[in-house]
Amino acid sequence: MTDQLTFQNPVTRFPSVTPPKQHQPEPGLDRDLEPQTDRGQHSYRGTGRLEGRKALITGADSGIGAAVAIAFAREGADVALSYLPDEEPDAQEIKSIIEASGRRAFLFPGDLSDSAFCTQLVADAVAALGGLDALVNNAGRQIAVERFEDLSEDQWAHTFETNIHAIYRVSHAAVPHMPAGSTIVNSTSIQAYQPSPHLLDYASTKAAINNFTKGLGQALAQQGIRVNGVAPGPIWTPLQVSDGQPKDALPEFGKDTPLGRAGQPTELAPAYVFLTSPESSYVIGETLNVNGGTPSP
Ligand code: NAD
Ligand code: MG
Repeated sequence: MTDQLTFQNPVTRFPSVTPPKQHQPEPGLDRDLEPQTDRGQHSYRGTGRLEGRKALITGADSGIGAAVAIAFAREGADVALSYLPDEEPDAQEIKSIIEASGRRAFLFPGDLSDSAFCTQLVADAVAALGGLDALVNNAGRQIAVERFEDLSEDQWAHTFETNIHAIYRVSHAAVPHMPAGSTIVNSTSIQAYQPSPHLLDYASTKAAINNFTKGLGQALAQQGIRVNGVAPGPIWTPLQVSDGQPKDALPEFGKDTPLGRAGQPTELAPAYVFLTSPESSYVIGETLNVNGGTPSP
């Protein structure tokens, strides 16, 4: 069995997926995705980089967040997972993988577009973990709308509530608990630089997340809390089949990258591990692009 440290060709490390047209109601489940995603459950090998850390990860039930949760556990962290109540089956699966890896997992279902939940989530995670020194703001919603005229104010507001207001709220509640050495990593997107015309609300929130990351990084540097971001390109996750892409676009998803294929969630995990690990001590306000080679600023 190869792992993420095996010398291998990135073009062929994973097959180029050609997902059949499919649809799931938002938020979508990894469990029902065709083909299945690779979240590293069979391949991610820890090397002790997050020994004893206490991490809260939002959107940790599926896709990128699930891959990050598995990697954090294998690197030695206990993990609190936030997700929507409808995602219980995916969350239970990740919890059992974490426990089988010898770490503790705590589940906190709830809606991050609700301000009160954001505050409660942090309090509950701190109580369960016995503190907090790593936060990954990864939850997000992405709903494609073909025509600008059809982008409703409701959708605009809900996307902002979920994708960026929640990051402010969760971070604001978390920072008072975080000792020097702690880290925050935010999931942004290539959409921050190259907005698709059918993702105007989503792409705008991702640009805001990049900017917030650079500003907050400076604000917290003297406290010894480092803030960074990861900007994924096209990654095969449930986000894409719950209206994240026009259905007709699914079979071609990610094939226009220089690597010629969509990424798998587990390929994102090492970027989050690096930015959370003490080894990145001089990296602050940075956004790591993990996108198969598309040039980004
Ligand atoms: P995903 O659907 O597996 O994960 C998104 C998660 O966000 C969901 O599992 C859900 O738990 C959470 N979420 C959404 N709305 C929520 C709410 N109101 N309250 C609580 N949780 C909520 O998809 P993913 O692709 O792994 O997405 C993870 C992050 O990566 C997102 O921020 C997304 O914008 C970003 N991203 C993904 C891609 C990609 O191609 N998949 C590309 C760039 C950025
Ligand atoms: Mg999910």
